[in-house]
Amino acid sequence: MDNKYYKLPDLPYGFKDLEPYMSEEQLKLHHDKHHQAYVDGANALLKKFDARNGEDFDVKAVSKELTFHVGGFVLHNYFWTNLGPADKCGGAPTGTIAEYIKKDFGSFERFKKEFTQAAAGVEGSGWAVLTLCRKTDRIFIMQIEKHNVNVIPGFRIMMVLDMWEHAYYLDYKNKRPDYIEAFWKLINWDEVNRKTDTWLKSPL
Ligand code: MN
Repeated sequence: MDNKYYKLPDLPYGFKDLEPYMSEEQLKLHHDKHHQAYVDGANALLKKFDARNGEDFDVKAVSKELTFHVGGFVLHNYFWTNLGPADKCGGAPTGTIAEYIKKDFGSFERFKKEFTQAAAGVEGSGWAVLTLCRKTDRIFIMQIEKHNVNVIPGFRIMMVLDMWEHAYYLDYKNKRPDYIEAFWKLINWDEVNRKTDTWLKSPL
């Protein structure tokens, strides 16, 4: 079977299309090298599972590695799709997600401020993410350490921002706030809404 392993997806836009906020060099390195490394890491583990031969695994270590590589793979897929060219993206949110932001945060300004703080406050490598809890019908901002998504039933991720240095260092060096500001020019609300509407329609 061909789909037994993970594959690096193509970007939904060209490598130059996020300029000037994200350079071709930065995006290419991030996608072709870093994202590829998580694909390779995840597949190496899957191949280890395929070759189970009676020898015991260190299950705890393998679970952690699996979460890291598969988490890294999936989060990057989310990241690429929730970005887009600045002439078509950025600005104020629209659709369902705009309604949730208004309901739970009062205003987009307040939401942007808190999400920015969550991103800036990621210690070391990690992500800022927006989740939607179906139990309470609320959206929450969360941080993910490294790529280790701890799955909470009833929650799903709607939007992510990669805060690993590899995501911005070529373009922004140590200026994390400038990178986060650039993110708001590239955010693809249509995709955030697609994820939100799909999740709201899914059976629990
Ligand atoms: Mn990354």
